[in-house]
Amino acid sequence: MNEGILLVLSAPSGCGKTTILRQVMAELPGLAFSVSHTTRQPRPGEISGRDYHFVSMEQFKAIRDRQPSGFLEWAEVHGNRYGTSRQEVESRLAAGEDVILDIDVQGAEQVRRNAQPVTVFIAPPSLEELERRLRGRGTESEESVRRRLANAAKEMQAAPAYTYLIINDQLDQAVLELKSVIIAERCRRRGRA
Ligand code: ADP
Ligand code: 5GP
Repeated sequence: MNEGILLVLSAPSGCGKTTILRQVMAELPGLAFSVSHTTRQPRPGEISGRDYHFVSMEQFKAIRDRQPSGFLEWAEVHGNRYGTSRQEVESRLAAGEDVILDIDVQGAEQVRRNAQPVTVFIAPPSLEELERRLRGRGTESEESVRRRLANAAKEMQAAPAYTYLIINDQLDQAVLELKSVIIAERCRRRGRA
């Protein structure tokens, strides 16, 4: 059986990545979302084991410090720790599933060093629109909004290192573009098999 495709998705927080991804996963079969571990607090509506594995700093460090590390990559983002389970990703790829990592630009850089992922950067149409979406979501404190906006400008500088760029202006168009990337990559892999 062919190994699945490893797909890395990064975007400034509030850009709409989760919204796009939910729609793409509902419409395209065969995609597995890698559920990250995080030390941040759950937002209203988030479910442990579906959106994230919510863990304490002690639990996070214990997974990170296993030999070999329990994390394929990990990073500190906006003052919280986030990490991708090595075991979950490797077993799903081996089973032929296409695995999506929703990770920040530091994590993407680590994965690029150890694997050959397909990488997609999702950008907002502007920083002003990003601020409107972050505030409109209503999940962040004022301090968290400011921190995420300050980080966004830095994260955007990493966009040229990604295989694909999608600008999330109209949601339907962004969903179509991400689906097209995945379908094209599946055809490419089929051609090499
Ligand atoms: P992220 O996962 O990137 O942090 P979300 O998916 O939570 O972002 O989206 C942030 C907010 O922006 C949500 O309230 C969502 O409904 C809204 N949103 C997402 N995409 C669009 C879009 N294309 N146009 C307008 N609002 C959007
Ligand atoms: P949020 O707190 O808004 O869910 O996520 C904040 C940022 O952390 C986003 O850029 C998201 O992609 C990133 N992130 C989520 N999980 C991981 C992970 O496992 N590793 C890394 N490096 N970043 C992650």
